[in-house]
Amino acid sequence: MDFTEVKIDEGFWCFEQRGVRCFLLAGKPYSLLIDACFDGDLAALCRARTEGPVRLVLTHGDRDHVGCMDQFDEVYMHPAEYAHFASKNGRDPQVRPLWEGDRLQIGACCLEVLHLPGHTPGSVALLERHRRLLLAGDCVQAAPVYMFGPGRNMAAYRDSLTRLLARRGEFDVIYPSHGPMTVPPSLAEELRDFAAEADAGLLPPPLPLPDPPPAGAGREVRLYRRGNAQFYL
Ligand SMILES: [Zn+2]
Repeated sequence: MDFTEVKIDEGFWCFEQRGVRCFLLAGKPYSLLIDACFDGDLAALCRARTEGPVRLVLTHGDRDHVGCMDQFDEVYMHPAEYAHFASKNGRDPQVRPLWEGDRLQIGACCLEVLHLPGHTPGSVALLERHRRLLLAGDCVQAAPVYMFGPGRNMAAYRDSLTRLLARRGEFDVIYPSHGPMTVPPSLAEELRDFAAEADAGLLPPPLPLPDPPPAGAGREVRLYRRGNAQFYL
């Protein structure tokens, strides 16, 4: 298997696979896995580090986040994501609903669900106030945020980040799914400001696409950057 494992803290791991990562918080009465990468035996990796059941929360339905979901019995996703999941994966998700404001208690950790549409309609992030961290999915990352194709909405993304920044005093570090493992909360501000400019049609000249281009990108996709904020549009 091509997973790289990083132990972040006691009972807190990251599994990285081909540019995407997922996170495992071990605890009781259950452990929580956030996202499910592409493929491989992710359930075995979790079993080796936890006892008892593992619940899986999907931050959104893009394929690089849901690949191993069928290995888990209890899978949660925001209902606003069901249609996007179906369009990306060619089947309906067999999941349980996860709602804005839901709290998941795992040992001493309490994760609060924040619904942050924009990258996808049902994207969520998880805020953990005990460790003062945010598991952001693809909402905040120091890599280009994919904002082209069906389901993306720049105005919703801008407003979601504005809402997230109202909670900024509750976390010190953000763990995204792509790019560097940790980013500062100030990146959410940069992304929000750049999203506001993009939504207003005020974009800088595009940069050349990397080679190979991002997955699923047609010829019309462009890369834009302002400071640390980047979009594929
Ligand atoms: Zn992703």
